[in-house]
Amino acid sequence: MNRINILDDLTINKIAAGEVVERPSSVVKELIENSVDAGSTKVVIDIQDGGKKLIRITDNGCGIASSEVDKSFLRHATSKIKNIDDLYDLYSLGFRGEALASISAVSKLEMITKTKDEPIGTKVIVEGGHIISKEPVGAHNGTTIIIKDIFFNTPARQKFLKSTHAETINISDLINKLAIGNPHVQFKYVNNNKSMLTTPGDNKLLSVIRSIYGKEICENLIEVNYECKYFKISGYIGNNNIYRSNKNLQHVYINKRFVKSKIVLDAISEAYKGIIPINKHSICFIQLTINPANIDVNIHPTKLEVKFENEKEMYIELRDILRKTLLSVSLIGKYETYD
Ligand code: ADP
Ligand code: MG
Repeated sequence: MNRINILDDLTINKIAAGEVVERPSSVVKELIENSVDAGSTKVVIDIQDGGKKLIRITDNGCGIASSEVDKSFLRHATSKIKNIDDLYDLYSLGFRGEALASISAVSKLEMITKTKDEPIGTKVIVEGGHIISKEPVGAHNGTTIIIKDIFFNTPARQKFLKSTHAETINISDLINKLAIGNPHVQFKYVNNNKSMLTTPGDNKLLSVIRSIYGKEICENLIEVNYECKYFKISGYIGNNNIYRSNKNLQHVYINKRFVKSKIVLDAISEAYKGIIPINKHSICFIQLTINPANIDVNIHPTKLEVKFENEKEMYIELRDILRKTLLSVSLIGKYETYD
């Protein structure tokens, strides 16, 4: 029998990074979510070579105090919860305190951050989990994080990076989803020095949708706004004029978090039965607000999945609300049955 080793923190972080940082878009997701949690109203995303060469995220949020900066790179270090009970009242996107530790373990990171209470900002450089330097610097309120050479010290991961084109598509898709989930934030996305997207940040869901998907989709959306026993729903769903051959344009958010929930997606499909062709998928942009005590988002580090306490009831209520909404407005003159 070999000796059992207790792994050191750097090794632990590198291993854990595998779960949180799968590819450049995972870094973009974690950093933007941090910017949103920091109360930012403006987030600028700058990408080069599909994020393989550079990812830069600048926000105008609360910043990190100089005395706290080092801590932010430690594993399980978070300002968002204090203990497990706080998960029952969680409205932030982050809470695991893992992202900065994981990202900095597998890249070269530079952070410039300043709070409104401090006269000067802090610049810190971290490489492969080691803090290389930390110094005061003149800066605007908010935080800029630059990630270079992702996976430079984990060659196995680097090998699995896809083409620049594929990684860029992934990042663009993710930014669209985060922008739609946060209409109160203005997102500016620049890819290889080319401006890709600027959302209005006017807190109107329809204007973000228009800035991303254009006029035609907006003209075929029906507003949903309803409060029932288990959740509140708001947003827009497509009428019978618009549908797709995949589920890429089904946007579901729970407490502002983009999720892939089978229960919710099944309820949507069921609601559209006979309204759009079989094998086609509807378009939707819906935000569900649910008491955090009745859901569990702590299933996977990426937090894409959720568990509901009242799964069955949720499904039925949601399906019926969507069906009623569809049948009440959209289908006049154009309604066909396909079954
Ligand atoms: P989590 O988001 O789960 O708390 P992270 O590792 O992503 O964990 O971030 C660690 C901490 O660093 C956060 O809790 C927050 O206090 C701080 N932080 C990270 N990014 C930002 C940012 N853009 N603005 C302000 N604070 C930030
Ligand atoms: Mg985070």
